[in-house]
Amino acid sequence: MLQLSRYPFHTLKTVPNGSDNRSTGLLLQAGFIRQEMAGAYVFTHLGLRVLKHIEQIIREELDAIGSSEILMPSLGKKESWLKTGRWDEVDVLFKLPASEGKEYALNPTHEEIVTPLMKEFIQSYKDLRNCSVYQFQTKFRNEARAKSGILRGREFIMKDLYSFHANTEELDTYFEVVHGAYDRIFERLGLSGSTFYTFASGGAFSKYSYEFQTELSIGEDNVYICSKCGQAHNEEIIDPAHFVCVECGSTEHRLTKTSEVGNIFKLGTRFSDAFELRYQDETGAMKPVTMGCYGIGVSRVMGVIAEKFMDEKGLVWPENIAPYSHYLIVIGEHLDEALSLVRKLEAEGKSVLVDDRTVGFGSKAGDADLMGIPYRIVLSDKTLAQWGYELKERTEDESQIISL
Ligand SMILES: [Zn+2]
Repeated sequence: MLQLSRYPFHTLKTVPNGSDNRSTGLLLQAGFIRQEMAGAYVFTHLGLRVLKHIEQIIREELDAIGSSEILMPSLGKKESWLKTGRWDEVDVLFKLPASEGKEYALNPTHEEIVTPLMKEFIQSYKDLRNCSVYQFQTKFRNEARAKSGILRGREFIMKDLYSFHANTEELDTYFEVVHGAYDRIFERLGLSGSTFYTFASGGAFSKYSYEFQTELSIGEDNVYICSKCGQAHNEEIIDPAHFVCVECGSTEHRLTKTSEVGNIFKLGTRFSDAFELRYQDETGAMKPVTMGCYGIGVSRVMGVIAEKFMDEKGLVWPENIAPYSHYLIVIGEHLDEALSLVRKLEAEGKSVLVDDRTVGFGSKAGDADLMGIPYRIVLSDKTLAQWGYELKERTEDESQIISL
């Protein structure tokens, strides 16, 4: 339970100036985030709860496919980044000068840490059965321009998963397992209808990489969707003047703006070669380990959901990621009745924010809408005269009286 009378992060009367887009303005106005500088944000209590709920959905689906959660450091060794050639190659790599003339990387991705880590634990083909690890970690990118609020940061929160395989066939099989988990994650986040599995430019190892792109009018990517088979293509892999679907060959398409919420890559042996990560196969021969990596931008997903579901009154959170499920407005001297209702609701698995501030009903109802809490409860002389409380859904106008 959260009691607003003793909560520091109050809302603002109007959207603050200088927001890049309306959802960022609403997140600021509702007190979910504060900007430290361009591309770096504070998540206050309500914002952090949304972020943790998104993380939990991702965690449940990755645990369900047998991946192990770990936590790697933000600081990376320069020697490891030199070893893979990425110290000079990655233009957004933050390089941090340190004592005694040393330098560190602030990791934008963790292949340079996870590959040497797993070298200690992978010796034989038996160690490669369903071998994958994941983490939620703050990532850093030295972006020339950081805009769009939490959609594009210099510092942001990502889930990254790394998988280790005996050969390409086993990587391909596991790739589809993770793809299935991602489909379930975006379904639970309420984004499945608008998120496309998109072919994007590959790399040294495979022809394509695969992105999960969510349709969003303020998105930074352009995606071409085949009208015949529905396959999505990042503009970087097509000739815009002569679109031809890579899946079915059709030229009919539509162009849409999207935001990239996830990506999955087949890394091959690039990193295992660099760190000599090998395993012994059934015949005793030493072979390089084949790797895959799989990201989801957790803080970006929060920004995408805020932008996608907001309405004219404020934010609208899906119930499974909302900071609290119920916003309880207390009118008059009824805090005791409110607190006993909170205990009842919490016993039913609901989470409650109690607005017991000494402000008028209009301000309280306005904040309930602005914060996007799925259910609003009013407890007052009027409802208690009917032995109950008023319950209204965030997106409905009708309310009903529920017995206490
Ligand atoms: Zn097609």
